[in-house]
Amino acid sequence: MKKKINIYFVVIAVIAILASVVLSNLVSYTLLQKEVYDDLSACAYALAATDSFDNPDNITYHQKSGTYRITLVDKEGKVRYDSSVDITKMDSHLDRDEISSARSKGTGQAIRHSDTLKRDNYYFALLLDNGCVLRVAKEASSIANIFISSIPYLAAIIILLMLASVIFSHILTRSIVYPIEQMAENINYIDTSDVYRELRPFVQMIKEQHENIIKNADMRQEFSANVSHELKTPLTAISGYAEIIENGMATEKDTIRFAGEIHQNANRLLGLINDTIRLSELDVSSMEVQREPLDLYALAEGCVNTLEVKADKMNVSLQIVGEKCMINANKEMMYELIYNLCDNAIRYNNKDGRVMVLIGENQDGNKYVEVKDTGIGIPKEHQERIFERFYRVDKSRSKETGGTGLGLAIVKHIVAQNHAILRLESEEGRGTTIVVTFPLDMKIEEYDQ
Ligand code: ADP
Repeated sequence: MKKKINIYFVVIAVIAILASVVLSNLVSYTLLQKEVYDDLSACAYALAATDSFDNPDNITYHQKSGTYRITLVDKEGKVRYDSSVDITKMDSHLDRDEISSARSKGTGQAIRHSDTLKRDNYYFALLLDNGCVLRVAKEASSIANIFISSIPYLAAIIILLMLASVIFSHILTRSIVYPIEQMAENINYIDTSDVYRELRPFVQMIKEQHENIIKNADMRQEFSANVSHELKTPLTAISGYAEIIENGMATEKDTIRFAGEIHQNANRLLGLINDTIRLSELDVSSMEVQREPLDLYALAEGCVNTLEVKADKMNVSLQIVGEKCMINANKEMMYELIYNLCDNAIRYNNKDGRVMVLIGENQDGNKYVEVKDTGIGIPKEHQERIFERFYRVDKSRSKETGGTGLGLAIVKHIVAQNHAILRLESEEGRGTTIVVTFPLDMKIEEYDQ
């Protein structure tokens, strides 16, 4: 690329130099012509003002030396006087352009190129009162000669300018390419690299992408470390219990208890694996979300029925309030969202506590799901972080109740994918309320169905 830019610069410089030389030569040639004609006419008028040519039979003008060639042609075209050629050898001049036009218009002019190409002959003819034509001529450089004589200067200028343009284009391409090379070399210090204005949007974009890549890589690394750690505990327990049974060290009663432990830990493993798979599925944002018209209320009712047994076991009452509420959404996602929120509301509740699920439409017309509990609540300092993967306020309580630490991370993902809004209100010891409000474009009016 650098080489290409350099070549372009040199080509443009050479074209510009040649064009300006040709144009300036043309202009100076035109000016020269005008000046020569002005000279010739001034001389012709000056001679006409004298009486030297009044009588063609008695010409009193005699030139000894001079730059002008003076000729007098009479009415018949016969040359009566010429300052530099023997008139007896001259033919009729009536057909000369300058003579015929002076005879008809009063003045006439012409240029004739000489054989050598180096010089041009300029003629100016003036009709005198006696009917004769007085012609003044002069030799001057031809345009070809002007060009030829300017060639050495031209070559010198071209060489100088080419050198200058090579140096200049080198500096310029370097200043264009250098920041890009710098950027590529230290992508980590992209902020500090000195870039020009046109490059800044790209720098910003690359910087953001780079940061995202690093952030994602860090998150993935942290996530896989966490997953491995989470899997290790139940697997160690399963392996330990199985080993005792295998060695015949457990009584029959112990064996039943250990089998129960193994079962519980295996379920924890399954839960963890399922949630991990689900999260990575939701991570693939390019995946097209299949939407369908569905009734949020009916879906919430399904969750409540499934969780009824669990709630009973923990002495928590479960209630659903609302009415048919149509929305255009992905059924599996909506079920997971409501299920995870209700599950948490039961698991982090107190004995004889209550969970209320409200389905409805707010004043702005947005459909929402609200899950309200009278449970243990979440301390202020943890509220921001509970949506992070594997973040738990009370680790042992989460594990005892079969938590994976991923439920709210899944909820957050679903909310983001649907452009919904999530609001959390919680007070330690009093309870928690989580509201998910869906955007208007997901809404389906009753009459639509
Ligand atoms: P877990 O499987 O541990 O429940 P979640 O991602 O669902 O994981 O929740 C993260 C943490 O947020 C929980 O460990 C718990 O400490 C807290 N939490 C979630 N929901 C509630 C709630 N309704 N009441 C009190 N604490 C809650």
